Amino acid sequence: MKRFVLLMSVSLLAMTITGVAFGRTFVTIGTGGVTGVYYPTGGAISRMVNQKYSEYKIKATVESTAGSVYNINAVLGGDLEFGVAQSDRQFQAYSGIAEWAGSGPQKDLRSVFSIHPEAITLIATKQSTIKSVMDLQGKRVNIGNPGSGQLQNSKDVLAAFAISLDKLHAEQVKAVEAPGLLQDEKIDAFFYTVGHPNGNIKEATSGRIKVNIIPVKGKGVDKLLQRYPYYAHATIPIKFYPNAGNRENVESIGVKATFVCSTKLDEKIVYAVTKEVFENLEEFKKLHPAYSVLTRENMLQGLSAPMHRGALRYFRETGFIRHIDPKLMP
Ligand code: GLU
Repeated sequence: MKRFVLLMSVSLLAMTITGVAFGRTFVTIGTGGVTGVYYPTGGAISRMVNQKYSEYKIKATVESTAGSVYNINAVLGGDLEFGVAQSDRQFQAYSGIAEWAGSGPQKDLRSVFSIHPEAITLIATKQSTIKSVMDLQGKRVNIGNPGSGQLQNSKDVLAAFAISLDKLHAEQVKAVEAPGLLQDEKIDAFFYTVGHPNGNIKEATSGRIKVNIIPVKGKGVDKLLQRYPYYAHATIPIKFYPNAGNRENVESIGVKATFVCSTKLDEKIVYAVTKEVFENLEEFKKLHPAYSVLTRENMLQGLSAPMHRGALRYFRETGFIRHIDPKLMP
């Protein structure tokens, strides 16, 4: 018995140090709140990989996290193997700006591929009378939790309208809690940078309190688009939210979800994950409606950290390498 316990603890130790036990490799994918699109995205990627367990002996699991910034830091710190992160956050981490201004450029960050588009989504109750970003002044607004992608996007949008944070009652709670707070009349509006459709905005628009999706547009926003390479025009299709107060598609700006890891991650693991997602893209796309626009070519755009060598090996073998920005290759 003692010997068994000893053996077990030695194997557990080996497992925690290397992520490998009994010939199996465990990988964890950092996502976001359970009502967003990152969480099902982690699920979809792990499903593609776990399907080939007999070949790769990789067991992928998903963790709900605070979002992009948390995921980037966790993959760099070795707490997670992979993470989903906004393209703007990937750019900032690799360049050592925004949350990384103090720690400097995160040169170990690697791109694997990009995924669905995400729109800066601003939701407000009808009774708040908020019709544009300008009207957020004096209101209770959730700008995003620390560790999330949206925290910086909300700040950028407010700055584009010359609204300083002290002009509103800014909350910083997780996106998963925001629809409840809105319906309980505890906040008037919230920002969420997210793919569509998603459960969060469905929940926010389906309650007792009438809710509108507010456009993020105007001169200030045009300047944002010129100033930052990672922002692009985005449209939120209103058909996804039949209970929202407004009935027109909503104009905004957005970024892309990307899949990242550390340069330290084993080449074989990254190769296997890349290969399974790319070879089974049609099956993958059926797992969430936000993936409907994905093509193998556009999944190689929107990246700023260099490609991981495991992903590059697959893209070289298949010729997809020609769609990759040469700056991303070592
Ligand atoms: N874009 C959000 C973030 O980076 C997460 C969105 C989602 O979970 O789908 O924190």
